[in-house]
Order: sequence, then C-alpha cells, then structure tokens
Amino acid sequence: MKRIAVLTSGGDAPGMNAAIRAVVLASHYFGVQVIGYRHGFNGLLEQEYQILQSSDVNNIIQRGGTILKSARCQAFTTDEGGRQAADNLTALEIDALIIIGGDGSFRGAVHLGRFWSGKILGLPGTIDNDINGTDATIGYYTAIDTALESIDRVRDTADAFERIFLIEVMGRHAGFIGLSAAVCSGAEQVLLPELFTDNLPDLDSLAGHIQTAQKIRGKCSYIMVVSENIWPGGVMDLADQLHQRTGIDCRPVILGHVQRGGSPVSLDRILASKLGVYAVEAARTGKTGIMIGEHNQQMVEVPFQDTWNQAKALDPYLLHIQQETFDLVKNSNNP
Ligand code: ATP
Repeated sequence: MKRIAVLTSGGDAPGMNAAIRAVVLASHYFGVQVIGYRHGFNGLLEQEYQILQSSDVNNIIQRGGTILKSARCQAFTTDEGGRQAADNLTALEIDALIIIGGDGSFRGAVHLGRFWSGKILGLPGTIDNDINGTDATIGYYTAIDTALESIDRVRDTADAFERIFLIEVMGRHAGFIGLSAAVCSGAEQVLLPELFTDNLPDLDSLAGHIQTAQKIRGKCSYIMVVSENIWPGGVMDLADQLHQRTGIDCRPVILGHVQRGGSPVSLDRILASKLGVYAVEAARTGKTGIMIGEHNQQMVEVPFQDTWNQAKALDPYLLHIQQETFDLVKNSNNP
C-alpha cells in the first residue's frame, strides 16, 4: 500500500483532529503517504487536497474542529458525483480512503464503493453518538462535558432565583447527550426523542411534575433537559406552554453549536487515537466496507450498513436511574 487518503465529513466533532493525527502517524510508521481531502466529499469532487506530513499534525490533538474542514455535499450523492470522486481517487493512485463522519458519511462511503474499487473505511465522528456498533463516537464525551458545564452554570443562577429552566441540547434523533447531561447535572426532568417516538410530551404531566416538585421541596430551582426538535414549536414555545399551565416562570436556554466546539476531552482523544491507528492497520490487511469502532474495550469492524440499519439504544440502566431512582416526585413517598 502506497497512499491513503483521509477526509472529515458531516457535522464536525471534537477529536476529529486527533483521528487525523493518528491516521497520519500510523501511515507514516508503515511508510505510507497520506493525502488529506478538504471540505468532506467536496474535496473528492474538486480534487482539493494536501499531502499531510507529520509536521502538519503537530499540536492538533488538543484542537476542536477539523484541520481538513468539513462540509455536506449534495453533488456527491448522485451517480455522476460518485463516478467523479472515483475517477479522482484513481487519478491520485489512492489505495484506501478513511472517512471520519456520521452515518450520512457512511452512506456516502457505500455510494462511493459502487464506483471505486479501493478500500473504504470509516471512523465514527459525531457528537450525537447515534452510530450503531460502537460504544461511543469521537466527540461524544466532549459534547457531554460542554453541555454539562453550561447546565451547571445555569443551575447556579436558577438556584439563586429559584427558577425553572428548560435547556435544549443537541441530538435530533438520539438522546445520548441529553440523558448523560441530565444524569450528570442532576436535572429534575429529561425529554429524549427515544421516549416520544409516537407521541409528543404530555404538557399536563410535565406541568404536574414541576408543580409537585415545588410542593415537595418548596420553591426551588428545576432543570429540564430537552433534546432538540422534540417539541414542534421549539423549547421557547414549550417553556411558554408550561408557564401558562403552571403560572411559574419557565426560561428556555438553547445551548446550540457550543456543544460542537472546544478542545476534546481525554476520552475522545484516546478513542480517536485507537480508531485512527486501527483503521490504517485494517486498510493494510485489505479490509474495506467497514467502520472501525470500539465495543467493550475491543476494536470492532462493523459493516457500514450495520451502523445505521439498527438504531443504537440508550443505556437502559442510565435511563432507569434518571427516570426512577433520581426522580424526586416518584421518590417523594419514601422516607
Ligand atoms: P452528522 O450526523 O454529525 O451530521 P453525517 O455524516 O451523518 O454527520 P450528513 O450530512 O448526513 O452528516 O452526511 C454527510 C455527507 O455524506 C452528505 O453531505 C453527503 O455528501 C453524504 N451522504 C449522506 N447520505 C448519503 C447517501 N444516501 N448517499 C450518498 N452520499 C450521502
């Protein structure tokens, strides 16, 4: 194997740089040249790339974002786009392509495989942790900590004024960040997409929970963590509806893109380093069509289709303790 290419695609996630660094250093260890395509699949279509030397990945392990930039690319999803990308990879004599991204990027990987016979491997890079076959994705641990730090700050002011806050966190289709941040922050309530697949959250029971909490504890702060897009009108509207039902001031906070940035925490750097090196080793032994993940401290090779065919489940025990053991209303009858 002479030449490996790497790109980052879809939503950026802290730790993508650590993964790029691992791919570059592992490739050089084996005497393989590395091409970094810029702006995700756009780079493949436009032949926008750079040769990555070891010096290019100095001092990037601690940086959020991605030095290769990321993007979404509609043109790539067509047959014409796939063919163009394949021709460009062939022209550069690339033996293997490593795609760091989410499940959309892995669908892109399968699409490309229809037109290109080189090896294609994926690394799970998304803060949402919604990729089946790996315990965690690169960026997830940092996103939890970022959300948590913000929620802790809101809690301080909520406590001082005994206020109710609804805090919207990222995770349109998956509640991993929401559940972890809720448990870690001691949130009184959490609304996750997995809990409302067929129905909307019931306003009366949410309002009742707030009112009962205030009855049990007296006027007190109350934090509700809400995954984005659960409520049709958004968290502002939900806060408004709850205010109308309870008569209590409910304030919304949208954390937004701060959750995507920042220096990766150690767990994301470790995960990215292991996955990046393993991907290069796997490519050298002829593996293709797989995402590299980690499960129970073992490196795993997951066929691309399996990463999205089955929805990844939330940790049931974590959900249980948040919704049962730590629920102050359910706990109110106990001594
Ligand atoms: P995140 O979940 O963090 O947003 P992602 O990788 O899922 O990351 P997407 O925007 O879904 O992000 O996908 C990234 C890119 O992958 C798209 O812009 C497109 O170029 C390509 N892609 C997505 N789905 C397909 C598909 N079905 N066929 C071909 N290419 C696809």
